[in-house]
Amino acid sequence: MEGFFSKTETEAPAIKRATGCGACGLYRQCKTPRFEVCGDGRKKILVIAEQPGATEDERGQQLVGESGQFLRRKLRGLGIDIDKDCRKINAVACHPEKGRTPTDLEIECCRPRVWKEIEEFKPKLIVLMGGAAVQSFLKHRLKEVGGINKWRGWTIPDRDVHAWVAPMFHPAHVLHAEKNPAVETVFNLDLTAALALLDTPFPIILKEESCVEVIHNDTKLCEILRNALEWRYPFTIDIECTGLKPHKPGHQIITCAIASDRDRAHAFNFPVPGSKPFRMLRRVLMDPLIGKLAHNMKFEDNWLNFFMGSPVEGWVWDSMIAAHLLDNREDITGLKFQAYVNFGCLDYSSHIEQYWQSSDGDTSNNSINRIMEAPRNELLLYNGIDALVEMRLAEKQIEQMGMEILCPF
Ligand code: SF4
Repeated sequence: MEGFFSKTETEAPAIKRATGCGACGLYRQCKTPRFEVCGDGRKKILVIAEQPGATEDERGQQLVGESGQFLRRKLRGLGIDIDKDCRKINAVACHPEKGRTPTDLEIECCRPRVWKEIEEFKPKLIVLMGGAAVQSFLKHRLKEVGGINKWRGWTIPDRDVHAWVAPMFHPAHVLHAEKNPAVETVFNLDLTAALALLDTPFPIILKEESCVEVIHNDTKLCEILRNALEWRYPFTIDIECTGLKPHKPGHQIITCAIASDRDRAHAFNFPVPGSKPFRMLRRVLMDPLIGKLAHNMKFEDNWLNFFMGSPVEGWVWDSMIAAHLLDNREDITGLKFQAYVNFGCLDYSSHIEQYWQSSDGDTSNNSINRIMEAPRNELLLYNGIDALVEMRLAEKQIEQMGMEILCPF
């Protein structure tokens, strides 16, 4: 994976059990084992579906069953010839008995075939049809993947494969939901949005770590804070703390990061109370004319209020609330998920998450975590990336909502 953290650091447990085709064994009980990838792929579309259907297995031909015919019709209606314009592969290449859903192990065993095709074909657009396709594409790269309801409809600029990725329902799911016409409508919308990506340039997004400056020098930090006071530009603020709530004795804010534009963030150790940087940061945070943004701002508001002795003034945007307003599905408003689906920024937190666990055996919301044990520069960089992604996300949300102003006046 191209990016700040190595594959080893971000690997989900599943990949560590990596097995092979032989361990899956599905090839032994189907009629047409190990279906080949099909299609000329003229338009650089790679369709990843779940598995060959019973008809395909029987006849030894791809896309001849009911779901395949449905997909053909839908694509034809949008000007796409699946045989000429696409390549088509399944998350598992052998038909599971009675058409059951493939298991995690089967998907894992077959994943190398899928990724070999991605690497060799170099698609412009990857269409993920159904939950198994999403698992095949993401489960070795993300700890928590979740189901298709969470993923469908996003148009993701996946920077690791340099392709647009568009998850959607599997055609079989649409056919089975015939009593609910909304499912087909959603499928049509998702497929149309996916194909529109063929004409959308792949975005140029600077690597997050290259946009974060870690500051250990008080003079430099004061200069940045002085500029903030003078120019009153809005910024995102993100802090790393010893827990979820600040009130228990022993809690501290460890690091802080601010981002004033989409390609620039500063991360620094939280200043010592009473020091010059602390007083300047306090002035910036208490200035109602300087707009502040955060992701789940009540967290920052609560901790900063507690440790700085006054409420933060000038809150203008909460990208978590905005994410919910734009899409009210469950389990999608977290910053890491939003970072991936909007900017293809995949998993920059795995190496830090271990330090979020309780250090004192307290399992309540008030426990003290192990964040103090994290390598400080890595924590600062992680904190800075959070602030940067929040700014990128807020900018995108503001544009999506047709708004312009971030200043509180
Ligand atoms: S499903 Fe994939 S991994 Fe399993 S036997 Fe068939 S080709 Fe091999």
